[in-house]
Amino acid sequence: MTLEITNPVKKYDVIVVGGGPAGVAAAVASARLGADTLIIESATALGGMATVGMVSRLTTLSDGNKILYHSLTTEIMDRYMKEAGVEPDFKGRIPLITEDLKVVLDDIVSEAGARILFQSTVCAVEKDGENISCVIVANKAGLTPYKAHVYVDATGDGDVAYFAGVPYEKGDEEGDLQPASLCFALSNVHSENKKGSLNGGKDTVWSEIGRDPKYPLVRNHFVPVHVGNGTIFANAGHLDGVDSTDPESVSDAYIKGRKIAKEYLEAVKEYIPEVFGQDAIVVATAPMLGVRESRRMEAEYQLTVRDYIERKSFDDEVCRNHNWLDCHTKKGKVSPYKLDPDQKYKDGDSHGIPWRCLVPKKVDNLILSGRCIWNDRGVFSSTRVMPNCFSTGEAAGIAAALAVKKSCGVHALDAKEILSHIKK
Ligand SMILES: Cc1cc2nc3c(=O)[nH]c(=O)nc-3n(C[C@H](O)[C@H](O)[C@H](O)COP(=O)(O)OP(=O)(O)OC[C@H]3O[C@@H](n4cnc5c(N)ncnc54)[C@H](O)[C@@H]3O)c2cc1C
Repeated sequence: MTLEITNPVKKYDVIVVGGGPAGVAAAVASARLGADTLIIESATALGGMATVGMVSRLTTLSDGNKILYHSLTTEIMDRYMKEAGVEPDFKGRIPLITEDLKVVLDDIVSEAGARILFQSTVCAVEKDGENISCVIVANKAGLTPYKAHVYVDATGDGDVAYFAGVPYEKGDEEGDLQPASLCFALSNVHSENKKGSLNGGKDTVWSEIGRDPKYPLVRNHFVPVHVGNGTIFANAGHLDGVDSTDPESVSDAYIKGRKIAKEYLEAVKEYIPEVFGQDAIVVATAPMLGVRESRRMEAEYQLTVRDYIERKSFDDEVCRNHNWLDCHTKKGKVSPYKLDPDQKYKDGDSHGIPWRCLVPKKVDNLILSGRCIWNDRGVFSSTRVMPNCFSTGEAAGIAAALAVKKSCGVHALDAKEILSHIKK
């Protein structure tokens, strides 16, 4: 069967695919440098896991001694915190009131001059040699080709790079990926999660609940964030064996994720009744599955755990990361990424993330950003957090706009010039 695409081609300077932290920053940075920019998003809001996925907390912007992220990441978060009236918690982590953040992201992207296209999914690319000649967008208008000088892949899963034939790695040697989680919100909660007192973990009430045969789906993973008015958002429960690039696997995960949320509710009502009274309810489950890990796309440089341990700096680094190695595992498996005490980060420790991790080897009009940049699996478990995604997105957007200005491919760009646009 040959499919004929009859919708006329739409043209932009820069097309950003995916509107999560990386895509938002890419679109803002690109548009502010004067490029005619489009951001294409499958969901109905910007923010990706930060909003639609209901991951309710941005990892700290600090290395414990000083703020690491000065540029767009800080600008966006400052504006959001002012709008939502929230402050970082005792560890510098920023609670995310999703509806406030959605509006701030809509505004900041629109004010920069980028066009937003919601409920639209890039489902294929056409190529001209190694380069992308257009992306094919599926939405209510049918299939439409969108053409740009440069494309930014901010899909988390590296969809655009994958469709363009960029090689990738996924999971460990057995193909196991970090479990997914379907985040959810509980309301009618009678207390805050003061200093993490309700958090899961070993030797907490969660280990006891995990052993209770009434709650087979509950694990000792429970990270609740109080978002006001007796409501908490919970990043809780593990969905093993989910492959976010396999639609059937994702569909099964939503079905099971909703059951997990209900089971957590019953468990907290029984075990922590002083906080979760009989009137507590699951008020929402996230419309976007929480995917920790999928494709890591090959690029000019692969960041490694060795780089992490050595606190490596790079001439072309776009940001620095302080987060710990946080590899969630399926039941019965333990993380292979255990560091010696002197290898673990203390306050003030960090490593760089080079521009080259964003540049796929052969394709000259595509830039990676966010979760799909070229890391080994170990360091990926650390760099996947949102501040790094915002920052790599910003660098990708700057680079894309510069490539438009200079009418060149991304490999010809001077990293120093890209970095000169990132406020330190
Ligand atoms: C359960 C969980 C808990 C986490 N906890 C934290 C935490 O506490 N703090 C922290 O900082 N980080 C946390 N993270 C990590 C962080 O949320 C993600 O790694 C980060 O959001 C990735 O950003 P991104 O922009 O690369 O991708 P995403 O946030 O995944 O956004 C990608 C966007 O692209 C869109 N998209 C995908 N494919 C297509 C396509 N083909 N066409 C059009 N649009 C497409 C999606 O709809 C989505 O909006 C957590 C992650 C998970 C899963």
